[in-house]
Amino acid sequence: MPLYEYAALAGGCRKCRRGFEVVQKLAEPKLRKCPACGKAVERLLGAVGVHTKYALSKSRLNDAGMTQYRKTSDGSYERTAGHRGPKLIRKPED
Ligand SMILES: [Zn+2]
Repeated sequence: MPLYEYAALAGGCRKCRRGFEVVQKLAEPKLRKCPACGKAVERLLGAVGVHTKYALSKSRLNDAGMTQYRKTSDGSYERTAGHRGPKLIRKPED
């Protein structure tokens, strides 16, 4: 889920005066009030990141169209996610 940053428009409490981050679903409406003090808040800049709980798993790399390689014991690289690039990159011969 994306992480959004909010900050108070004016005044506010210790939580919202300096800005705070909220993890929200894309479909959730924007917060309009600070959950702590009820003052009006504004969402900054859109999503600032993706919650780290959702680490890049193989299937998410595939979904994102990314390619991942892993170094093998003999120094070659094998593709572990994605569809682009060779399946195996051999270690250059000396
Ligand atoms: Zn507040």
